[in-house]
Amino acid sequence: MAEHESLEFGKADFVLLDNVSMEEFMANLKLRFEKGRIYTYIGEVVVSVNPYRAMNIYGRDVIEQYKGRELYERPPHLFAIADAAYKAMKRRNKDTCIVISGESGAGKTEASKYIMQYIAAITNPNQRAEVERVKNMLLKSNCVLEAFGNAKTNRNDNSSRFGKYMDINFDFKGDPIGGHINNYLLEKVCIAFGKDFSCINDGADFKAVADAMKVIGFTGDEIQTVYKILATILHLGNLTFGVDGDVTLIENTKLVSVIRELLSTKEENVEKALLYRTVATGRDVIEKQHTTQEANYGRDALAKAMYERLFCWIVSRINDIIEVRNYDAKIHGKNTVIGVLDIYGFEIFQNNSFEQFCINYCNEKLQQLFIQLVLKQEQDEYQREGIPWKHIDYFNNQIIVDLVEQQHKGIFAVLDEACMNVGKVTDEVFLQGLNTKLAKHAHYTSRKLSPTDKSLEFDRDFLSKTFIYSGKNKDTLFQDFKRLLYNSSNSVLKAMWPEGKLRITEVTKRPLTAATLFKNSMISLVENLASKEPYYVRCIKPNDVKSPLLFEHERCRHQVEYLGLLENVRVRRAGFANRQTYPRFLQRYKMISEFTWPNHDLPSDKDAVKRLLQGCGFDHDVAYGKTKVFIRTPRTLFSLEEQRAEM
Ligand code: ATP
Ligand code: MG
Repeated sequence: MAEHESLEFGKADFVLLDNVSMEEFMANLKLRFEKGRIYTYIGEVVVSVNPYRAMNIYGRDVIEQYKGRELYERPPHLFAIADAAYKAMKRRNKDTCIVISGESGAGKTEASKYIMQYIAAITNPNQRAEVERVKNMLLKSNCVLEAFGNAKTNRNDNSSRFGKYMDINFDFKGDPIGGHINNYLLEKVCIAFGKDFSCINDGADFKAVADAMKVIGFTGDEIQTVYKILATILHLGNLTFGVDGDVTLIENTKLVSVIRELLSTKEENVEKALLYRTVATGRDVIEKQHTTQEANYGRDALAKAMYERLFCWIVSRINDIIEVRNYDAKIHGKNTVIGVLDIYGFEIFQNNSFEQFCINYCNEKLQQLFIQLVLKQEQDEYQREGIPWKHIDYFNNQIIVDLVEQQHKGIFAVLDEACMNVGKVTDEVFLQGLNTKLAKHAHYTSRKLSPTDKSLEFDRDFLSKTFIYSGKNKDTLFQDFKRLLYNSSNSVLKAMWPEGKLRITEVTKRPLTAATLFKNSMISLVENLASKEPYYVRCIKPNDVKSPLLFEHERCRHQVEYLGLLENVRVRRAGFANRQTYPRFLQRYKMISEFTWPNHDLPSDKDAVKRLLQGCGFDHDVAYGKTKVFIRTPRTLFSLEEQRAEM
């Protein structure tokens, strides 16, 4: 018996459980975790439990074992899913994507790296230099992005503060020829004083990052500028303001000259930008002095904005460098894509801020996509095809997604409206807006109604948890700062701030709020994913103390619940592993039956497929729909494939 079929390690696929119940599911998950089997399937979905220890299962030898194999031939592994996505892309010419989800610290980023490594390892059998170059860039870019985008949090020492979607483009031979990265929401609060970010934290590490940047193709000037920006952010963190009469002033003026130097600009410009803002009143342009409070706000906003802009600039430079260069491959032959999405997982703290709201909204949306694709589409198809089907209840997340993103009355819309209230953006106004517009919504509970209810933690109704906005949605940076940076004689820095070119009278358009920008980016992300064939990795965090030994039952059960894994098993069990239209099925397998080879004389393709499957003894494992044949277990499919290969 193959190792993965041995019961000693539990069931390799939750579909094989005797009873689909939470108890059995959890018992199997726990057993496998304790036996060091961190991956388990639900059909083609990989459930992964963070082992919190080095596992000897990612080496070259293991990669070889998975290369080109079918999912069920080997023990469950990320490599198998990566291979399935790769095969679908290569053989069937499909764009695919691998969506990795799970809460903070569950192992998403690690999984995405193993997947990338696998794809890099199995491609380019001919050792073409260009392909090697591209692969190297893709892997190196990861390291740079991590340095700038990760921070130590209490949940994860290496927590991604940005979501990352990476497309890898392949040529007709199935070799990578380029890529593209999208990033989503860098959490700005963490960076207020910079100290949490690994690249700022650790000088020695930054050397390695700088080297990686060099390899990718950043110029010396660019890397220098990155250093300077990071140093500026650190110095800004130490800058303090005071008052003398009614004059606001900078207390440690020495820092100003350091910052001036770093930003290649004039000292008086730095001072002015920190202490005044230019405002247009009718036709007049006046300079208004900040209060110390405003100056503090401005300084923090500048530090955050510089970091965010730096990060986005790095991503866009990497994209310039890794985009598909080979125009031949672009125009001729096919160009397919595998996307890998590593996005921040659910996050609920004592006080949850705008960032947590965005992160959780994103997860609700991805959960909705998962439900849509795996559960709903599946059921809908059976119905369409007239296959008898026992309806399975599932929680349709759309109602939550709508609550957040609906035009005019969704939470984002209410938030935007509250932010239009110039000068008077308070949580109170926002809350009032919510209470007025959403009072009747089944999933909205006013914070006033349940101010201390901790039981809502990790509930789907995360929205009812307290969150404090403090005007973060309106995170606007004074135009004066943009102008300051644009007027730098450092051309790299200048190029990062093109909007600094505008004079104050030209800045009329209200910038989109952070909420609207984020909502729009999520909607297009989900549209993009929905257009591809999806593969899922569902990551589970076994405990909160980073222990390789501890399986906290309640903690894990909760994750299994909100990831909808039991529903997933039920649908999968009730469902079919594979489906194909009758003509397609015949085209592929007609050679294995005397009734269908080379052509059949039965009244329809459907009859011919029936005849073929009866002949092979697989009739009991299939269902015949209106246009498609449905095969229940993968094993039947493998046998068909084997017989075909033997012909
Ligand atoms: P976040 O949402 O905060 O970014 P994440 O889901 O991306 O979290 P990771 O950074 O991938 O979490 O994993 C957290 C830590 O768990 C890693 O730094 C590593 O120590 C450990 N870990 C995760 N997956 C594995 C694995 N497959 N093998 C060994 N250790 C792992
Ligand atoms: Mg991560």
